[in-house]
Amino acid sequence: MNWLEILTDATQRIKAEVTSLLKNPIAKKTYGIGAGGDHKKHIDLEAERVLVETLADHNLSFTLISEETGVRSFGSNPAYYVTADPIDGTTNTLRGLPFSCTSIAISKIPRLDTIEAAAIADLFHDATYLAQKNQGAYCNEREIIPALTESLDEAVIGVDFNTYKVTKLSAKLNSLLTATKHLRHLGANALELCYVADGTTDAFIDLRGKLRTTDIAAAVLIIQEAGAKITTLQNTTLKNQLDPKETVSFIATANATLHKTILETIEKA
Ligand SMILES: [Mg+2]
Repeated sequence: MNWLEILTDATQRIKAEVTSLLKNPIAKKTYGIGAGGDHKKHIDLEAERVLVETLADHNLSFTLISEETGVRSFGSNPAYYVTADPIDGTTNTLRGLPFSCTSIAISKIPRLDTIEAAAIADLFHDATYLAQKNQGAYCNEREIIPALTESLDEAVIGVDFNTYKVTKLSAKLNSLLTATKHLRHLGANALELCYVADGTTDAFIDLRGKLRTTDIAAAVLIIQEAGAKITTLQNTTLKNQLDPKETVSFIATANATLHKTILETIEKA
C-alpha cells in the first residue's frame, strides 16, 4: 500500500475543501456534539467527508476512527484503521487565525504505539508532514530533525492551558513555568507537535487529561520518526487506544536531555 501517496492526496483535497469554505458563513454551522465531545461544525464534517471520499477513490476498505463522527467501517473487509482529526484547530480556522491542520494516521491495530503511516498538513501554509514507521519524517519532502536545545532559558515551550481546571494545572506546572523564558500555545496540538519534530519549537506539553488520542495519533509517529521524544508524565510510552473518547496527557520534547530536565522541573512543583 502506498500510504504516502494516498495520505498526500487526502490532505491536499481536504485543504482545498477547507480553503474554499474559509470566508463562507456556512462553515460555522453547528450540528450537535461530535464523538470527541466538541461541537461539530459544517467545516469539520466537510473535511471528514472529503477524507472518506478520497480513501474510497483509492479502493480502500477501512475503519475510520474520527473525532467528529466516531468509529465507522467502510468497504467489504476493513484491514486498516484510519484515525483522523479532519480539522485540528477549528476555532483558529474559522477565525482565520493561521494555525490549524488536518491529521490522519494509519494502523492495523487501534493503539497509539502501532501507527504505521501519518500525515499532518498545515491548512494555512505550504507544509505537509509525512512519516512512515522506521523511514523517517518529512516536511514537503525535506527530512526533518528536532532542535538541539537543552536548557529552559533558551527553549521555546508550548503548554496547553485550555481547561477550566487551569488553576490546578498551573500549580502542577509552577516550577516549569517559572524556569521557562519562552512559553507559547498556538491552538492546534497536532501541528504544535510537528513544530517540535522539525525544530521550530523545543517542547510541547499537554497535561490537561482531555486531549483525545484521535488528535495526536499522526503526530506521535511524526515526533518519533523525526527523533524527538513523547511520553507520559511518568516517562512511559503512550499506548492508549485509538478512540474519540480516549484521552491522553503527554510531554513531547526535541531531545532526551530537555525531556529529563522538564520532567525533573515539573516534579519540583
Ligand atoms: Mg477537530
